Amino acid sequence: MQEILNQLKEVSNNLYWSFNNEFESIFEDINRDYWKWSQKNPVKFLDSINKEYLFDIIKKKNLREKIHSLYKDYKNYMNGSTWFEKEYFDPDTPQICYLSAEYGITKCLKFYSGGLGTLSGDHMKSSSDLGLPLIGIGLGYLYGYFTQYINLDNRQAELYDMNHFESMPMRQLLDEDYKPVKICLNLPGREVFAQVWEVKIGRAKLYLLDTFVDENDAEDKRITDILYGGDVEKRILQEILLGVGGMRVLETLGYEPKAFHINEGHSAFLVFERIKNAMKKFNIGFKEARDMCYWSNIFTTHTPVPAGIDIFPRWMMEKYFRNFAENELKISIDDFMREGDLKRNVTDNFNMACLAINNSNFVNGVSKLHGAIARRMWALPETRSQIVSITNGVHTKTYLSRHSERLYIRHFGKNWENEENIWGKVAELPDSEIWETRNKNRRRLIKYVREKMMDKCKALNCPDEKVGVIEEMLDENALTIGFARRFAAYKRGNLIFRDIERLKKILSNTDMKVQFVFSGKAHPKDEGGKNLIAEIMSYSMSDEFRNKIVFLDNYDADVAKQLVSGCDVWLNNPRRPLEASGTSGMKVIANFGINFSILDGWWIEGYTKETGWEIKSPGNANSLSENEVDSIEALSLYDTLEKEIIPLFYKRNGDKIPKDWVKKIKGSIRNLTPVFNTSRMVKEYTDMFYMKVK
Ligand SMILES: *Cc1c(COP(=O)(O)O)cnc(C)c1O
Repeated sequence: MQEILNQLKEVSNNLYWSFNNEFESIFEDINRDYWKWSQKNPVKFLDSINKEYLFDIIKKKNLREKIHSLYKDYKNYMNGSTWFEKEYFDPDTPQICYLSAEYGITKCLKFYSGGLGTLSGDHMKSSSDLGLPLIGIGLGYLYGYFTQYINLDNRQAELYDMNHFESMPMRQLLDEDYKPVKICLNLPGREVFAQVWEVKIGRAKLYLLDTFVDENDAEDKRITDILYGGDVEKRILQEILLGVGGMRVLETLGYEPKAFHINEGHSAFLVFERIKNAMKKFNIGFKEARDMCYWSNIFTTHTPVPAGIDIFPRWMMEKYFRNFAENELKISIDDFMREGDLKRNVTDNFNMACLAINNSNFVNGVSKLHGAIARRMWALPETRSQIVSITNGVHTKTYLSRHSERLYIRHFGKNWENEENIWGKVAELPDSEIWETRNKNRRRLIKYVREKMMDKCKALNCPDEKVGVIEEMLDENALTIGFARRFAAYKRGNLIFRDIERLKKILSNTDMKVQFVFSGKAHPKDEGGKNLIAEIMSYSMSDEFRNKIVFLDNYDADVAKQLVSGCDVWLNNPRRPLEASGTSGMKVIANFGINFSILDGWWIEGYTKETGWEIKSPGNANSLSENEVDSIEALSLYDTLEKEIIPLFYKRNGDKIPKDWVKKIKGSIRNLTPVFNTSRMVKEYTDMFYMKVK
């Protein structure tokens, strides 16, 4: 019995489990409530559960075989041959270092806020799948991002739950003397130390830095307290830690990567640390070292608007870098400031994206459209490499529901993923089975929504009549449309409410029922975003929309998985062209959901009549006001819903199967799944960038 527990513990400490549905089902089999209590954290679960009880349950429920088989799968995964081995086998293989301010891997590792984080997490997962020699660098935030509660007044409240690193699937790095490995930064008037945590994601490793160590004063301990929290000075400290500290972690651990991937500008200070190291190593000057390091830096930009970029004022740069510039890089602070300007002029602002672009031979945007916009935004001299596009993806398995995956396993075996042309084959499955799985996915979501609402109701001591309402919340057979993302103004979370009468008409048709599930957080300082949430909340409580529109608290990796697997249609209506890529829509495809979106970001590349629906934008949007564009796009949204989407969903044949709807699902799977995934994306980074580094 101890052996089986050890096996379960070994898997628990590798985030491989975050894309293995069987793993979660074992913990639910053992004790579902306890699993929920642990926040889906297997390490906490196993550390705290009573061993006799655990052994008893494993015996009673016959879980031995299931655990053993999970363990075998894990071992096979870890030891299997990989794409990288086949394509690039080379004993002297370069290592790649990937840096990001956030990583979204699973619910209980709260080191992420949204899209950038899930992308970084998915990048790590696919790197592991492909066998890429890639290591990740990030920050281990004591509180992470906030937990969202929608209060009784419909406002978002933010709660900061502390992460307990010791009982999370990560471990502290220790040296030979079992002392914590620490790196040190020289900041004005003091040294700042950080300890290092290792997170295993399959074969890939992620190192997280954390400044809560005894050597630091109270202020410095808090450098890594909250993701995107605090003021500009806090931000620069976090970014120095990530970029400069990150390089020192590599050095301390003896890694000598050949390529450095700066995922969004937050980590771009690594540029200076690398230059400093090269100056020392080769005994060369700043310019020479800078031109040398340029060839092995890779920068991915994620924003199409200047407002989304970190900019630090000159006084702050002087405060933190004057010494470093003059004594280590042997340049003036003016010359230092030049690196943060695209034309290398001396200005009062230091722009992190410019630092990264100036110092990276490889620069890319995250969709074709975004690449084109970035090229216009940054107009680089023709004498240097230009900005290209590598469209984002998602780690498909992470977002697959149990029901979806079981369908694949049933038809193609356990190894279904590795089948040749698997998505073409999935698209050939019988309509009845696809439809049945779609129904199961939707029902599972509705169960989840009701349970979450019930939990909240209990926590708030709601009266009994409210409890009764929750039991009837949403309809298991109604067309279910999902909208979940960060509540930022440009994402227009309330577009569907633009014409309330029309929405009422759509939602009151009892023959063709339609319902919406919303979720999403607003940044704590974004009052506009919070107002949007309050607006949707109040609609969801109104008599007309009650139980047909629900808003789920705390959009996180877990809520996301339930939503993207449960919804029939995934709605996205950002203001063009502000959605650089967007990824949540990609997560629904393999779960038999269909996208309905503005032609922005990835959807321009994905959309055809065969794969989903478009919300039409006016051709002359540039000469219209925002308000006019919103009206026109809302009109297209309603029209498409009423005339195409709803009738198609309810057009059933003799077996009650909506044949044409399933045809659309198949078109979506066949055409989109093979493209919009991080396996394709990481391969592109590898072929176009990582392996091109000399
Ligand atoms: C996928 C995901 C996102 C990003 O979705 P977008 O479509 O890019 O807005 C944000 N948050 C969570 C929790 C996600 O899973």
